[in-house]
Amino acid sequence: MGFSSRLEGYTGRVREVLESAGVDVGDEIEITIGEHEKIKGVLMSRYELADPEYIVVKLPNGYNIGVRFRENIQVRKLLEEVKKPAFRPPEKARPIPGLPRVTIVGTGGTIASRIDYRTGAVRPVLTAEDLLSIIPELASIANLDASILFSIFSEDMTPNEWSMMATRVDEYIRRGVDGVVIAHGTDTMGYSAAALSFALQKPPIPIVFVGAQRSSDRPSSDSATNLIAAVKVAGYAPFAEVCVAMHDNHSDEVIAIHRGTRVRKNHTSSRDAFKSINTEPIAFYKNGEIYVNRKDLNNRGSNQYIFNPKFSDKAVLLKFFPGMSHEILEDIWMKGYRGIIIEGSGLGHVARRLIPTLEKILKDGVFIGMTSQCMYGRVNMRVYSTGRDLLKIGVTPLDDMLPETAYVKLSWVLAQTTEIEEIKNLMLTPLAGEIGERSIP
Ligand code: GLU
Repeated sequence: MGFSSRLEGYTGRVREVLESAGVDVGDEIEITIGEHEKIKGVLMSRYELADPEYIVVKLPNGYNIGVRFRENIQVRKLLEEVKKPAFRPPEKARPIPGLPRVTIVGTGGTIASRIDYRTGAVRPVLTAEDLLSIIPELASIANLDASILFSIFSEDMTPNEWSMMATRVDEYIRRGVDGVVIAHGTDTMGYSAAALSFALQKPPIPIVFVGAQRSSDRPSSDSATNLIAAVKVAGYAPFAEVCVAMHDNHSDEVIAIHRGTRVRKNHTSSRDAFKSINTEPIAFYKNGEIYVNRKDLNNRGSNQYIFNPKFSDKAVLLKFFPGMSHEILEDIWMKGYRGIIIEGSGLGHVARRLIPTLEKILKDGVFIGMTSQCMYGRVNMRVYSTGRDLLKIGVTPLDDMLPETAYVKLSWVLAQTTEIEEIKNLMLTPLAGEIGERSIP
């Protein structure tokens, strides 16, 4: 006999106790253990691999715990009214004259997710209206419009999704909105922000990526504060940059606004995971105000806008590691990739033994660019003989460009031209703030 979806995954004695209490996955329950211990939460489904002797409960703080079955355990269903927090879409707000028009484009990730109380999974199913219902104050900041482009985790993005995002944003620019916010998973948000920086150069309005490290059902969620800052920047910032709005530190007060080509996720879970690398954030948001932090910004209303949403899937980002064999490089070459960004060691090196293979690949007209796997600083391939030899065979040093940004840029450049000299030239020309001013040595 197979399981019905009721009490999914529960078997044996645990299932009997739950069944006789008349509870189901998604119900708010109270577990009493012995005389005194009580645990309240939402009953979650139990995955096949988990220990069958445990009841899985989501606590009000958002964490799941396993309650081990004991003979003295009692389960009771709590009142209907308190179960399954409902997300009620608000009525469509009437536009408030004088407020800027901001569009939120949902693409997935935690910020555009909600907990599925039936299965316990965090699912990318949040509709745009849900975003508004969770954070009603957004309605007093801007006249909002929202749409879902797709609902995927950001690790599933490809250059094709970058292209789709850029095309959607361009449509909104043409419709005359004052700013666009893109709700995005945080894992690859830096890549997408870089991609849109190249696809939508010198745009007339701000394009603000926003994500959340903690889902909105958790008290420590950063969804609301990040989203409020993103909408504010999209609607009011004097600059029109592709940027990322995320917590600057552990408090809820300051949100940093990073340039799309210079930002990296540096922590798996902390709310202040995003940092500008080799540069300062372009602005900060605090207590409802935007504090601009740089002068070299593209102004709102720019008439130099260039839209080019094509990306090639023939670019590779490759991290050098000790012991790396030349076969990896040859495989990439044989598969027809037209450009490789190497994340080299230190100032921009790879093992000497790889140089003959790299030379062969370069002679075939494949672009090879060098970045550093160091977190900070710029490549300098003139210091050591390995670097000088790499330069001699035609490897292009990419200054202080982030490896991820260099890869995204190469993917964009390869879709513009097949001429190797032009590829090199474009890679070295700053197009969207991706290369920093050379610091005084
Ligand atoms: N890994 C998923 C993503 O990047 C979810 C995590 C998040 O949104 O931060 O889309």
